[in-house]
Amino acid sequence: MLSDYHVHLRPDGDDTPAAEYFTAGNVARYRETAEERGIAELGASEHVYRFRQALDVWQHPFWRENAHDDLDEYVGFARDQGLKVGVEADFVPGREDRMANLLDAREWDYVIGSVHFVGEEAVDHPDWDVWSTRSVDPEKVWRRYFETLGEAARSGLFDILAHPDLVKVWGADRPRPGGDLRRFYELAIEGIAEAGIAVEVSTAGLRKPVAERYPAAPFLAMCLDAGCPVALSSDAHVPEHVGFEYESTVAWLAEQGVRELCVFERRARRLEPLG
Ligand SMILES: [Zn+2]
Ligand SMILES: [Zn+2]
Repeated sequence: MLSDYHVHLRPDGDDTPAAEYFTAGNVARYRETAEERGIAELGASEHVYRFRQALDVWQHPFWRENAHDDLDEYVGFARDQGLKVGVEADFVPGREDRMANLLDAREWDYVIGSVHFVGEEAVDHPDWDVWSTRSVDPEKVWRRYFETLGEAARSGLFDILAHPDLVKVWGADRPRPGGDLRRFYELAIEGIAEAGIAVEVSTAGLRKPVAERYPAAPFLAMCLDAGCPVALSSDAHVPEHVGFEYESTVAWLAEQGVRELCVFERRARRLEPLG
């Protein structure tokens, strides 16, 4: 079995309105690629911040710029199209109750939890770049990122922890700590282990400057030791990226000792053999 659960039906940006992308024709293109690549489990996971309801959770200017669509219309559309229904919800420290209210009011197959921001700044967005200030210490940024990731897991809000070491996304284009990076993973692993959350293996990093999967092999090994199952995804934003680099990634997962992948239905999780 292969899954692709972390799938956006449109590129990021405020010029990709729901009316143009939440259509049967667009979903058919995603489904066609999924079928070609042997992906049985296809789900949609739009960014929560693209929906007006997200402004009840957080009022960051980036969210205000992007919050145009109706969340309930999206959920209904994805369900009608026969997709697994998911959402990519940011973890916003201090706003857990508000996010819980938003999530609990709707019926999901799974909720993907992401850390994109540390404080008001983003680790992966050039307009809100955490690295833009002079003399940013990569030790501090990475520490803060992985501490937040552990809190996200521990919050219990999410079924899947997205792109677990996203902070590396820029590769050599931004400052990067040296040495054994496990000192950072250690900061998150307790929360991840206690939550027993599914850990996303994402091929998206292979399309980014870092040119690596999320998470790095040593971090995945720690998650597997903690007993966490794996959810495989591409983080596609266009149909061609569904199942991106799956062939090499399935081989890589087998090398890491992964034999099963998560399947989700109405927020219940089961395991199916990989491949
Ligand atoms: Zn993300
Ligand atoms: Zn995403």
